Amino acid sequence: MGGNVIAMNPKTGDILAMVTYPNYNLNTPYEITDEEIKKNWESLSATERNTNLQAMWRNKAIADTYEPGSTFKTITSSAAIQEGITSTDKEGEFCCTGGIEIAGTRIKCWRHYRPHGSESLRQALMNSCNPVFIGLGQKIGVEKYYSYLKKFGFLDKTRIELPGEAKGIFLKENKVGPVELATISFGQRFEVTPLQMVTAVSTIANKGIRMKPRVVKQMINSKTRRN
Ligand SMILES: [Zn+2]
Repeated sequence: MGGNVIAMNPKTGDILAMVTYPNYNLNTPYEITDEEIKKNWESLSATERNTNLQAMWRNKAIADTYEPGSTFKTITSSAAIQEGITSTDKEGEFCCTGGIEIAGTRIKCWRHYRPHGSESLRQALMNSCNPVFIGLGQKIGVEKYYSYLKKFGFLDKTRIELPGEAKGIFLKENKVGPVELATISFGQRFEVTPLQMVTAVSTIANKGIRMKPRVVKQMINSKTRRN
């Protein structure tokens, strides 16, 4: 169990806050916080102790990946709007019947027991309606979809000036068939870092301009107060 929170200024890329849990006290970095590991500490070898410490010190917000799930529907929406495939508020543009057939497989909406029915893109986002985003993904197509993954920065590290950054884990483009594209479109079967996700969503908030995340705004000479 755990979690991360990152606050980023979308206009500048400034990381205003970055926290992860489980955490540890920076003043006592060698004190293990996990009760279970702490109990057995004396019986651990030097290597095991080191592994546990390294794991505790890990900045999970940039070094670990996770499956973003429905938050990724914002990315699919953005690509579809940019490609002119959909618009935000066209009444009744979509109709959720509780699922959608893709290459012989029926993929269900989470609310398959009471389908969403007629909805606009905005309403589909509010309803987090899977079939709508699957449909948009199919219209965008694999090649275009991957070009947006690249533009949003999911295929590379953000190059934040912190050590140990990871990048997204995606199927190779040529391995993505209709079913894989369908699941990617609503955020499943791939992983990204929390930092990549916040950077991509910030890009949307910044009218399409992606900023490199930064933790140091400026360095000034403490005597002269100049750069
Ligand atoms: Zn639905």
